[in-house]
Amino acid sequence: MTDHPAKPRAVDVHALPAMLTALRLPSIHRHWPALAECADKEGWPAARFLAALAELELAERETRRIRRHLIESQLPGGKTLATFDFKALPGLPRARVEALAAGDWIETGANLIAIGNSGAGKTHLLCAIGHALVEAGRRVLYTRTTDLVQKLQAARRDLALEAALAKLDRFDLIILDDISYARKDQAETSVLFEIIARRYETRSLAIAANQPFSAWDRVFPDQAVTVAAIDRLVHHATILEMNVESYRRRAAADRAPTKADAPATTTADKQADNIKEEITA
Ligand code: ADP
Ligand code: MG
Repeated sequence: MTDHPAKPRAVDVHALPAMLTALRLPSIHRHWPALAECADKEGWPAARFLAALAELELAERETRRIRRHLIESQLPGGKTLATFDFKALPGLPRARVEALAAGDWIETGANLIAIGNSGAGKTHLLCAIGHALVEAGRRVLYTRTTDLVQKLQAARRDLALEAALAKLDRFDLIILDDISYARKDQAETSVLFEIIARRYETRSLAIAANQPFSAWDRVFPDQAVTVAAIDRLVHHATILEMNVESYRRRAAADRAPTKADAPATTTADKQADNIKEEITA
């Protein structure tokens, strides 16, 4: 060995931007001139300069990764813990939600099930937890159950169900919203059972339902499949009962000038009451 690789005779500094692009180091590319100026002025040892650049690239890489995973998650914007009003759910202490947002349950593939009437905040809460998990480095997918069922059924028709399910394995958590809107007569809903069975004890599901388990036989093809699905889901699960007055209705009532000005019962009120009766029946 005659030449030391770290001591080349001529270094083309002008080629640096192109080299950094080729190496896929966009943060170093962007920040090195300012940092080099600082290093020169303060007489940093070369190792310190290099370490500072590496640190910067790693930190920004993590930020970019989270941003990518947030887009990939399809989580609706704005539904975060920061915008969640804990006072609206007195039965659900903030500490319990924060523990769920920390995500230890994800490690063991446990599930989270929120059951309650429409407007109780199930979607908001599950999305807020999902959002926190993405920020903590997990991969999450939010989907309405009917959308996922349709996609998986299309994949099955194309003989690509296995590939479609395998693609979903990369998510630490899949949020299935509004499971009770999926209907067995909407075509076969057994793809829903397949995803539940596949993820059992390995990968987590978070499910929102405005119907109690007793009504889930409308979702699965028959009683036996319903029982098998619920059995797997609840084996390792946190179940949140969220039967509180609709947040939307409450917010509307708060906006009304006086209670006396508001009509006694609206059609929406009646509908919500019907749903509530169905749940509590
Ligand atoms: P559900 O899924 O139970 O039907 P949503 O989560 O869609 O209810 O809530 C209905 C609306 O009220 C949404 O706009 C949601 O952001 C808002 N909301 C519900 N609960 C809360 C809450 N505790 N804090 C802040 N906003 C809430
Ligand atoms: Mg909802």
